[in-house]
Amino acid sequence: MSYIKDFEKTYEPEKQKNAVLGGVLYLVGTPIGNLSDISERALKVLSEVDFVAAEDTRNSGRLLTHFGIKKPMVSYFEHNKRERGEMIVARIEAGESCALVTDAGMPAISDPGEDIVRICAERGVPVSVVPGPCAAVSALAMSGLFTGKFVFEGFLSTATNERREALAALKGERRTVILYEAPHKLRGTLADLYKVFGDRRIALCRELTKLNEEVLRMRLSEAIAYYEENQPRGEYVLVMEGASEEEEKAAAFWSDMNEFEHVGYYMEKGLSKNDAIKAAARDRGVGKSEIYNVVMKK
Ligand code: SAM
Repeated sequence: MSYIKDFEKTYEPEKQKNAVLGGVLYLVGTPIGNLSDISERALKVLSEVDFVAAEDTRNSGRLLTHFGIKKPMVSYFEHNKRERGEMIVARIEAGESCALVTDAGMPAISDPGEDIVRICAERGVPVSVVPGPCAAVSALAMSGLFTGKFVFEGFLSTATNERREALAALKGERRTVILYEAPHKLRGTLADLYKVFGDRRIALCRELTKLNEEVLRMRLSEAIAYYEENQPRGEYVLVMEGASEEEEKAAAFWSDMNEFEHVGYYMEKGLSKNDAIKAAARDRGVGKSEIYNVVMKK
């Protein structure tokens, strides 16, 4: 009963943020594969804005045509985002409304959208969100892994050093890790993950919301073996379980130090003995007195 009351209160049309206003950038989420996932509000905003900025005007043009929408479009993608972003924001500042759509999913998540939002934020230009599907969150929900806390890494760098550093920084990460990956890089990435993290559980979420949607939940070694036999196809989100408590400890910079060395490390960095004991205790997740007793016995 109370749900119905709240529903009516929440859904009074005049109390909703439905008007499409000039001088606003609308971030419009679009489907990640299934056209039926477009929202009513996304269609309204796309129909009513002055122009649409799209990562790929041909792809988004097809999307708009499918829904019977005709709109002037400008392209906004990785390699023109600097000057094009300025141009789009100048038009919004002059009073036009703009919908930003990227190739699929939520703009600004692992695509050039984040840049234009930053420009708007710096200049006090209003940005409004029209939420839609996001591959990362959809995959996390499907993964069967712990969803309470997670980190999103996007695409791993292909530059060897940056990639190595990014993976090393994740070694002790307790939260579930989400990665985007292209099919032709999947085998290499699975091999790198196995090398750094060992035989963790992973969910390989492929072609979400499309006809060939598939989630493979397995260990990294099994995924490597599977893709020796099978060709990776389609778009992937990889969701990997986080480190266990033991793995987290083993990955810590102090894992090879005893308590005495650990406190000494902080003292060399300029902390007083008392503060160094506190810092070492914090790192190890133990009480200050535990470290104090060990250090004082030496
Ligand atoms: N902004 C988009 C989002 O967050 O939904 C992601 C854009 S990013 C350039 C594209 C990557 O998202 C793909 O390489 C893939 O890793 C992932 N992706 C997009 N659509 C997907 C789908 N239907 N199934 C699985 N992964 C998908």
